[in-house]
Amino acid sequence: MTVTYKEYNCKSMLRMHKYVDNWFWTSASVSPYRACEHACNYCDGRSKKYHASEDFGHIVHIKTNAPEILKKELDRTFPRQKSLSYFGSGGSGRDRKLKPTVAVSSGISDAYQPAEKKYGLTRKILELFLDYEVPTHIMTKSDLVLRDLDLLKKINERTWCTVSFSVSTLDRDIARLFEPRASPPQKRMEALGIISAEGILAGITYIPIIPYITDSHEQVKETIKTSKEFGAGYVLAGSMTMRDLQAKRFYKILDEHYPELRDKYKALYWRGYEPDGKYLQELHSRIKAMCNEYDILNYIPRYIPDIELKKNIETSTMLFLISYFLGLGGASGYKIRAFNKLAQTIEDMDENILDIYKAGKLSDIKGIGKTTAKLIDEFLKTGKCEYLEELKG
Ligand code: SF4
Repeated sequence: MTVTYKEYNCKSMLRMHKYVDNWFWTSASVSPYRACEHACNYCDGRSKKYHASEDFGHIVHIKTNAPEILKKELDRTFPRQKSLSYFGSGGSGRDRKLKPTVAVSSGISDAYQPAEKKYGLTRKILELFLDYEVPTHIMTKSDLVLRDLDLLKKINERTWCTVSFSVSTLDRDIARLFEPRASPPQKRMEALGIISAEGILAGITYIPIIPYITDSHEQVKETIKTSKEFGAGYVLAGSMTMRDLQAKRFYKILDEHYPELRDKYKALYWRGYEPDGKYLQELHSRIKAMCNEYDILNYIPRYIPDIELKKNIETSTMLFLISYFLGLGGASGYKIRAFNKLAQTIEDMDENILDIYKAGKLSDIKGIGKTTAKLIDEFLKTGKCEYLEELKG
């Protein structure tokens, strides 16, 4: 397969998100490349939503000035002197608010795709992240990330670093078919083991589990068991979406290699880009049971340093996790969004939730109801939320 690199000067690099992602805990992202030569045949990046063309995987756009642009943005967003901090220092020497965790790469571009060997832009970004003490979450399908282990260790010492290896199967042949230019799964697992042994939180984003191809009981069990053996701290699982050009590409591969599955897929994806709800619930409940069996988390633990508004972030995290687990269990979208919205409100608050609580004014928080007030009350009193523990199973 030939790949063309198209170099250009970007105008911006750091994308600040309005909301916290309650799967990855990121609220900003950077990506030095556009499109991805790993060329996975199920990649959502192929869909029109991301303005992809049929050339996805063959043309990669290289943001050659990424480090210079990013440095200017970090000067504004992550100033190194606390007195100048965007987050404010309450005089205690601690940051008042939580720094955003930044995702390196995006759902449509792997920061460690082969272009990185030539351009080294991801490494330069990590050097800046170390300098500016940016909490970092790397998501990749490549063992090239090991080249930067020295930087990952230093970032982790100064602030926080997590590495998620994206895996859809451990079967080398299936992986070669669907992820033709990514590192073989075994290599990803070995890289995970090396990173985890250095004390850096690493895990797998088991996404997408490909319906009827990589979702059997034995395959899922093997993946979770192996992840645990290599030192994964979590397994975050999800199924496959099917949007316009993404679906077109996937069906082409399916027709060539698994023609007998076409009708089953059409039935499974009857509601559009997502599989049937019952299928998803059954999948997530199997994964939860297996994660329990192998004593591994089925969510990513969040980094919460000793900041002044730590209790706010602990409370919002509890609510975000409720929303996450409700989603896995197939709860109504309304309920999921209500928890998520309240979590975000508390995340963004400037006032300490403990002061609000002590003043008996929890009910003044926008979006809070009787049930959520009770959960927060219990959490602030005991540090636990029984409802969340039940959902975790
Ligand atoms: S590695 Fe990720 S971004 Fe790249 S093609 Fe595969 S799924 Fe898409």
